[in-house]
Amino acid sequence: MAKAPIFSVVVPLFNESESLPEFIARTTAVMDALGEPWELIMVDDGSRDNTAEILLEHAAKTENIRPILFARNFGHQIAVTAGMDYARGTAIILIDADLQDPPEVIPQLIEKWHEGFEVVYAVRRQRDGESFFKKFTASAFYRLINRITDIEIPLDTGDFRLMDRKVVDVLNRMREHHRFLRGMSAWVGFRQIGVPYDRAARFAGETNYTLGRMVKLALTAITGFSFFPLQVSTYFGFVSAAVALLAIPVVIVTRLMGSQAFTGQATALIAVLFFGGVQLISLGIVGEYIGRLYDEVRGRPLYILRNNPDEPVKKAK
Ligand code: UDP
Ligand code: MG
Repeated sequence: MAKAPIFSVVVPLFNESESLPEFIARTTAVMDALGEPWELIMVDDGSRDNTAEILLEHAAKTENIRPILFARNFGHQIAVTAGMDYARGTAIILIDADLQDPPEVIPQLIEKWHEGFEVVYAVRRQRDGESFFKKFTASAFYRLINRITDIEIPLDTGDFRLMDRKVVDVLNRMREHHRFLRGMSAWVGFRQIGVPYDRAARFAGETNYTLGRMVKLALTAITGFSFFPLQVSTYFGFVSAAVALLAIPVVIVTRLMGSQAFTGQATALIAVLFFGGVQLISLGIVGEYIGRLYDEVRGRPLYILRNNPDEPVKKAK
């Protein structure tokens, strides 16, 4: 391998065979123009199409490309984590392969890095080709996170960002299984700044972030950075206990005055069902934290590889 790279571009891939050649071409053009040594770390996250084969073909031709092949699909956040583990650059750039994040923006991120910022995140000015529902849920999600967690995640940012080696070294030491990288990279501090850009539509294929996956990521973000859901059940417990205490004298007095209010099974049934529901939800919230705790305690590896990223890729097979 040539000189140690200054820039590492880390890209997660899941069924991106259609975008891949175009992505590599555009990124190579942008990075070569910078005139510094760079590497392209591409993580195949257990794609079900021929992404891995296409990736290996390209890697055999270009020594800048270092492929990392997962044994199965581990998810976007884990794929990016693996890429950061193997990145050797002084600045690490995270970018998606679907060309929604234009590689042409990278030089602007690098400019800010040269000015001394350690985290330069790209802020979406507009989003082409995404549904109203996706935009709405995304914006609601960021507002919720900033309200209930201790960290400040800039609005309308994704994982598209540049991070200094110092930051990546810290992130690489955070081995939590349920990862929310945007939150983690806000949590570490350092000097951070945003660069606005226009998010394009996907080059090909469809989003892999279905509603289910988005909810999962949102839960990871919330449980990973706050105890708010647990505190909600505490507050709720206090409020309903207070209401019950106040209701006792009210019921006694109205009963002594001969009123028929609050007799009958319906009232009792509704109260039992309501608090049964609240208790089960609280139990579920506690369970959510315990499940995550269990995942951490088992200490399984974050990902499993089926190749050795440090070995150069052989030419023809
Ligand atoms: N991705 C991945 N593993 C997954 C899902 C997605 O590595 O399980 C990659 C995908 O190939 C893309 C990036 O993560 O490079 C972002 O995914 P996607 O475009 O589906 O998400 P969106 O941009 O819609 O949020
Ligand atoms: Mg995308």
